[in-house]
Amino acid sequence: MAQKKAQSGKKQPDKKKAEPAKKAQTAKKAEPAPKAEPTKKAEPAPKAEPAPKVEPVPQAEPETKPAAPVYDTPRRSVAFIGSECHPFVKTGGLGDVMYALPRALAAQNCDVRVILPRYACIPQKYQDKMVYRGEFYMDLGRTGRNYYVGIMEYIWDGVVYDFIDNQEFFTAGNPYVGLVEDIPKYCFFSKAALAALNYMNWIPDVIHCHDWQAALAPVYLRTLFRDSPVGRAKTVLTIHNLRFQGIYNIPTIRYWTGLPDEVFNMGALQQDYVNANMLKGGLAYADRITTVSNTYAGEIQTPEYGEKLEDHLRYHNYKLRGIVTGLDYEMWNPATDPALAVHYDITNVLQHKPENKRALQQELGLVQDEGKFVIGLISRLTNQKGLDLVNAVLPQVMDGNTQVVVLGTGDKQYEDTFRWYENEHKGMFAACIQYDEARAHRIYAGADALLVPSRFEPCGLTQLNAMHYGTLPIVRETGGLKDTVEPYNVFTGGGNGFTFDRYDAGLLLDAINRAKTEYFTSRYHWDEVVQRDMAKDVSWANSARQYKDLYLELTPW
Ligand code: ADP
Repeated sequence: MAQKKAQSGKKQPDKKKAEPAKKAQTAKKAEPAPKAEPTKKAEPAPKAEPAPKVEPVPQAEPETKPAAPVYDTPRRSVAFIGSECHPFVKTGGLGDVMYALPRALAAQNCDVRVILPRYACIPQKYQDKMVYRGEFYMDLGRTGRNYYVGIMEYIWDGVVYDFIDNQEFFTAGNPYVGLVEDIPKYCFFSKAALAALNYMNWIPDVIHCHDWQAALAPVYLRTLFRDSPVGRAKTVLTIHNLRFQGIYNIPTIRYWTGLPDEVFNMGALQQDYVNANMLKGGLAYADRITTVSNTYAGEIQTPEYGEKLEDHLRYHNYKLRGIVTGLDYEMWNPATDPALAVHYDITNVLQHKPENKRALQQELGLVQDEGKFVIGLISRLTNQKGLDLVNAVLPQVMDGNTQVVVLGTGDKQYEDTFRWYENEHKGMFAACIQYDEARAHRIYAGADALLVPSRFEPCGLTQLNAMHYGTLPIVRETGGLKDTVEPYNVFTGGGNGFTFDRYDAGLLLDAINRAKTEYFTSRYHWDEVVQRDMAKDVSWANSARQYKDLYLELTPW
């Protein structure tokens, strides 16, 4: 009942916020938001093309319900602005956060609206569900033109999704094409998102932007939109991937943004004498900066991890913090996971996990023996993931009692090496060079341990998945791996997994050997850790509470 009320509340403009519809200074010809009606005025829906890596999720298709709302903190309204969101379009972890966090926040007494580009590659079944919410024209930078901004809306499980429609910018088959096209596209998107909030007369308490594609929103908000209704919102900018920053030459960014000269200085958008950096500008203007783990928040202030923004981040570190990403318990639940051979939970994991191990061995053509120690590795096969360390230690790991299962795609060099190992250790090594969600689920369920020896890892999901499935992680102590995996303590029996600190093959081998020793000689203690890991709260609810606290800190009325 309470949940229903909260949901219906989302469709109504908040009374407090429904102040006279002062239009965004840049939104021309705006009319009051018409009642949602069929796609009458919308530009013809573009033909759907396959979205990049929009993975079929084994079980959590839309009709799942978020947790019942918790009303122990005051209500806040939040607009999410980002470039991707599962299940509409996803190329990485950002898409997962844009999907799960708003839903978890809706359950934390937040009124959430997610603003996304209406890419042509969004599957047709979602395009069909969108309803026309309005349209206006908006100037952009120094182009001298007014651009069409359509708003298509889709309300789902207490979260409102508003898609910014413009055929000129969002028709490519992939959200990211190349900087030449992406820079104008996301200048347009950031500005249109703010103008759309003004147009809809829905002024949030907090605007939460994600990565460089939305990083200009805080800059626009404090400059061109300062005196418009949306100008009163506070801003949070979350860094998911510091590697991509939206860097291009100053004249081009000046041309497309139309931002005043004062923002092109070394403290804000300017990168050097030649270039401007959109993420850097956003970091300067945002009221708060977050990244996806506390340790990573510290690491990015050092030259090793800072991607050349370490000085800038150190300067702004008073407003920087880390909040670890959560796990979607509907998508990841060994008790209901349709991909698994046998379902299990914490009460019967010790009985059913070996059955999943045997099924996995059979599926992958490995020697079927529950007594073998099975190590999984599920990863993009890139430098970041510490695969050079793995390659260095594999000859010693393959001792006849250990099986290794690799699932991933990426650099050819790694793909070929793992294929070679599969051939060399037939029946003991499986190299699955593919992207296969269901198989990933089965590896989490069937393996005893999961390897994550990353060079750097902002948060990392695989170690969370593993723990939730009773598989012990073997990780390097960096970023989110350090924050989520407590090292096993052989004296007290406490901890969640096996860890090593320096990026060193010898230390990785040592950690793997400690895990093996525990598994083969002290199974009772091993099993205790399995159950402890399954009981560990790695849910989104936990993370969403921390985001809610952050919003309340920014809006302390
Ligand atoms: P990344 O740096 O790639 O975002 P994360 O650990 O944050 O790494 O997230 C990776 C997610 O993608 C996990 O949920 C993992 O299960 C999944 N994944 C990675 N590679 C594959 C693959 N080859 N097949 C299926 N799922 C994969």
